[in-house]
Amino acid sequence: MQSPLDRAIDALSEEHREYLMQIRRFVRTECAPHDAAMFEDGHPPEALLAKMRELGLFGLTIPEADGGLGLDLTMFCLVLREIARTAPAVRTYMNINNGIGSRGLVQSGSAPQKEKYLSRIASGEYIAAFCLTEPGAGSDAAAIQTRATKTDSGWRIDGTKHYITNAPFADVFTVIAVTDPDKGARGGITAFIVEKGTKGLSVGPVQETMGGSAQHQCEVVFDGCEVPDDAVLGAIGEGFKVGMKTLDEGRISLAASAIAYAELALEKACEYATTRRAFGKPIGDNQGIQWMIADSATELFAASTMLLETCRRYEAGERVSTEASMLKLFASEKACEIADRAIQIHGGYGYTLEGGIERIYRYLRMFRIVEGTSEIQRMKVARALLKAAAK
Ligand SMILES: Cc1cc2nc3c(=O)[nH]c(=O)nc-3n(C[C@H](O)[C@H](O)[C@H](O)COP(=O)(O)OP(=O)(O)OC[C@H]3O[C@@H](n4cnc5c(N)ncnc54)[C@H](O)[C@@H]3O)c2cc1C
Repeated sequence: MQSPLDRAIDALSEEHREYLMQIRRFVRTECAPHDAAMFEDGHPPEALLAKMRELGLFGLTIPEADGGLGLDLTMFCLVLREIARTAPAVRTYMNINNGIGSRGLVQSGSAPQKEKYLSRIASGEYIAAFCLTEPGAGSDAAAIQTRATKTDSGWRIDGTKHYITNAPFADVFTVIAVTDPDKGARGGITAFIVEKGTKGLSVGPVQETMGGSAQHQCEVVFDGCEVPDDAVLGAIGEGFKVGMKTLDEGRISLAASAIAYAELALEKACEYATTRRAFGKPIGDNQGIQWMIADSATELFAASTMLLETCRRYEAGERVSTEASMLKLFASEKACEIADRAIQIHGGYGYTLEGGIERIYRYLRMFRIVEGTSEIQRMKVARALLKAAAK
């Protein structure tokens, strides 16, 4: 059965379809020989990074006027689907530049900020990072303690962020900090752009994860970190909105990646179910295996349809905060279930490192946590409905 996402590819313009096929060829012929090494150390080799830059992979979502390819969200999600066919290191390197590392600048940056940073982020010359989460504040983002204090020449930032993806090699950090503790999230939080090498900014050692080496997440410490006035991103006091809007879009593309990894797991499960034999027949002849395959395919069909509809509404200019939460919740939860079933279908081989399924499972587990946990997505959806009902 054709996936709704394959149908979406059929509906693309000739130019976009050709671009997507270029990415497919890049992943399947140029990345593939490096997969094993990238799984191991989490870094694409320089030659691949150069090709990624050449293909525009760091600036897919950045407007053409700012040096990117200016692709719409559907197209970005389709590219991420292709990228899921190589080691996660490739996704990690390009994803933040296209998502939480640049969206604040695209949406709220001043003309000089856009000129200075966006074309470099789009070209991959700069790697971007986004610093919101702190040891004492994750889901409850409004409780952050990192403080930005006004000085004569600009702002002084003090505080600690953690789990910051790509921090070890990031060139530019979007930092969310408290500027007025009395106002908190309602006008007291501001976003800043901080460059690597700024005095008082330091990056801690990598915080290892169950997802393997690709995540590169670290603590980022601001200790008397002085930035000029023009480092403020958007209006003073509007940083919480900048951060939350950035996350809405991120949730849609995260869902796209979760779906793509789950598709891969299901493909491998189907392949194995037709070749592995037990009791004199392929294991796929058993209803117990067939049901797992059927449930996984059904959930992928639903998640893919939700993804395309959410992208469509977003591209039509609608506010899709609730839809993005529903999508991220459903896609990431179901993707984990699908990968779990794929391991089960592979039996003992599914549990071995050699089989490669456990790797998909471990990587996918992150999607239920990052950019808002499943519980937070449920909270957002329920609140939206209850608010509407109370009107
Ligand atoms: C791989 C990875 C990469 C990341 N990259 C970045 C990054 O680049 N930048 C960045 O800023 N952050 C990043 N994060 C942080 C991530 O966004 C947070 O981990 C996430 O938002 C959850 O916050 P927390 O870990 O503090 O969990 P907590 O907020 O402590 O939550 C713990 C548990 O309590 C639950 N919970 C909390 N509140 C409620 C509630 N009201 N109702 C029900 N349950 C609740 C949560 O759902 C969760 O299950 C990354 C995290 C990971 C794992």
